[in-house]
Amino acid sequence: MNTHPSAARRQDTLSGPRILRRSGAKRVLRALTVGLGIAALPAISQALTFNFVATSGTSQAAIDGFAAAGTRWSSLFTDNVTININIDFSALGAGILGQAGSAQVLTSFTNTKNALNADKTSFADNIAVANLQTGPAMSLLMNRTLNSPNGAGNATTFLDNDGDANNTSIRMNTANAKALGILAGNNPVVDASISFSTLFNWDFDGSDGITAGTFDFVGVATHEIGHALGFTSGVDILDGNSTGTFFRDDQFTYVSTLDLFRHSAESGAAIDWAADNRNKYFSIDGGVTVGPFFSNGTTWGDGRQASHWKDNLGIGIMDPTSAPGEPLAISANDVMALDVIGWNRASVPDHASSLGLVGLGVAALAAMRRRTK
Ligand SMILES: [Zn+2]
Repeated sequence: MNTHPSAARRQDTLSGPRILRRSGAKRVLRALTVGLGIAALPAISQALTFNFVATSGTSQAAIDGFAAAGTRWSSLFTDNVTININIDFSALGAGILGQAGSAQVLTSFTNTKNALNADKTSFADNIAVANLQTGPAMSLLMNRTLNSPNGAGNATTFLDNDGDANNTSIRMNTANAKALGILAGNNPVVDASISFSTLFNWDFDGSDGITAGTFDFVGVATHEIGHALGFTSGVDILDGNSTGTFFRDDQFTYVSTLDLFRHSAESGAAIDWAADNRNKYFSIDGGVTVGPFFSNGTTWGDGRQASHWKDNLGIGIMDPTSAPGEPLAISANDVMALDVIGWNRASVPDHASSLGLVGLGVAALAAMRRRTK
C-alpha cells in the first residue's frame, strides 16, 4: 500500500526520433572504482568544481566528455562548491539514452528565501528575491490531490493556500543547497548519479560539429549536470502520482527551488504546480513577465517532463529532447534559471541586458509558433 507519492517516475524518458534525457530522483548506486577530478581548469578564475567519479571500464572519451561538460558550467558560475557526480556508461533499457538522479534535501520555504536573499548577486537575483511570496507559506495552484475540493484526483485546479507541509517546504538538490550555503560547499554527499547508454552512437567531440546519426555526448552531459545543479520540477512527482492512487496535498513536499518561478496565466503570483497541459512559464517577477515556457508532464501534460523547458522551441539546453546530429548549447535562459535559484554568475549583466533575456524566450517561442502554421 502506498503511503507516500513515489519519486520513481521522476525520470527522463526517451522517444524517437528525438531523444529524451532522463533525470530525477532515482538514485543509481553502483560500485565506483575510478576517480576523476578535473585538473585542467580554464585560465579564468572559478570555484565551481566538479568531482566526477566513473565506474571501472568507463571510456576515457566519456570521462573527458564529462570534464568538458563540467567546464562549461564552471565557466559560467563562481560558487565555491564541489559537486560530486557518479558517472557510468552501460547498456540501459531500450530507448533510454541516459538517466540521472540527484540527492536532495528538504528545507523550509523560509530558509530558502533567507538563503536566496543572502546569496543574491545579479540583477535577476534581486528581482527574483523581491518578488517571492511573503510569509512562511506559499500559495500553489494544484490539482489531482486526494483531498481536492473538486473531488479526489480531480483535474480541476484549486488554490492550495492552507499553509501545511507542501506549502512550507522546498525539496532542493544538494548541489543547489551547496550553492546557497544550506549545505557546506565541500559536503562529500554524492550530488548526482548519471548513466549513459552504450546502445547509442555518441559524438564525443563536438568541436567539428556532431556527426550525423550520433548524439552530442558533451551536450547531453551538460544537460544532465544542469538537472543536478537544480533544474528540476516537483510537478513531475504530482504528474506521476495521480493515476489511481491519490495523495493529500500536504504529502507533495516536492516543490523545487526552480518551481518558485513557475507561473501561468491562471496562477498569477501563486506558483503553478498543477499537472495538466496548460502553459506554464518561467517568471522572475511573480508571474507578471512571461518568460520561456516549461514542459508540463508526461502523464497529464505535453508528454515531456515538467523538469524541462518546452520541447523544440530552442529555449535552451534544458529542452527535453535532442536529435541525432544536433549540437546542444547552454542558453541565456538556462543561465538565468540557474542564476535565480542560487548560482552566482561569473559575469553579472546590467539592468538592460538582463531584462532582455527575459524576453528572449518569448521571442523564440513566437517564432516557432509562426513556423508551425
Ligand atoms: Zn532532462
